[in-house]
Amino acid sequence: MSDFATLSPLPGSPASTAIALYARHTAGHEERVATARRVLRQAHEQHGAGLLQSSSLGVEDMVITALLAQEGLPTDIATLDTGALHPQTLALLPAIEARWGRRVTVFAPAQEAVLSFVRDHGERAMYESIELRKACCGVRKLEPLSRMLAARSAWITGLRREQSANRADVPHVEPDGQGRDKINPLADWSWADVWHFVQTHDVPYNALHDEFMPSIGCAPCTRAIAVGEDFRAGRWWWEESAKECGLHQTHHKN
Ligand code: SF4
Repeated sequence: MSDFATLSPLPGSPASTAIALYARHTAGHEERVATARRVLRQAHEQHGAGLLQSSSLGVEDMVITALLAQEGLPTDIATLDTGALHPQTLALLPAIEARWGRRVTVFAPAQEAVLSFVRDHGERAMYESIELRKACCGVRKLEPLSRMLAARSAWITGLRREQSANRADVPHVEPDGQGRDKINPLADWSWADVWHFVQTHDVPYNALHDEFMPSIGCAPCTRAIAVGEDFRAGRWWWEESAKECGLHQTHHKN
């Protein structure tokens, strides 16, 4: 059994897997994959060691890590461990190393800041108001993200236009508003494209995607979605907000 067989149900597994549900070859798939490869190669040529993949360990980011490995690009990979992730998400760190020999650098929030926030507002502060939820994201995500991106000139994300109305205009390359380029190689990919690539390239993925969680964040702020719900409906589901945490400021509309 491979190291990540427990993470990534193999093609042909029971019909409830994300692959069985979503993987579909659609017209233009090969062109979209070729474009993503070209965008990544050009970003590497332009930025070299200044380029970083910021991976959420979600399925789009796993596809991007696979593309980087297939293209032989030595781009660094980093992720944020907020201290509130599911074990299924953290299990992808050794899976990436086993599959592609790439070590993911983990950035964690400042412990004292987390302890202070919890001491002042409690463990369930995110449910009390949008302000407290965003403050929690600020402590656990934005501060370590700023350290992750320090000294980088460009970062790669898994943003896709289809993910939400807020992301409907995501380009392949855009300024991040902080002086860097943000590279979105999967900007024009569909959900079917993502899973077709996972299936055909045997990409390991988070087991929670098989439990109707298309978008996975921190455990307290992620739930499964129901049939017909938006892609990001399971993120901060108690809020009437844009379902964003501040990592992608250029696509906020509120
Ligand atoms: S997603 Fe939830 S737990 Fe994670 S940092 Fe934001 S508010 Fe805090």
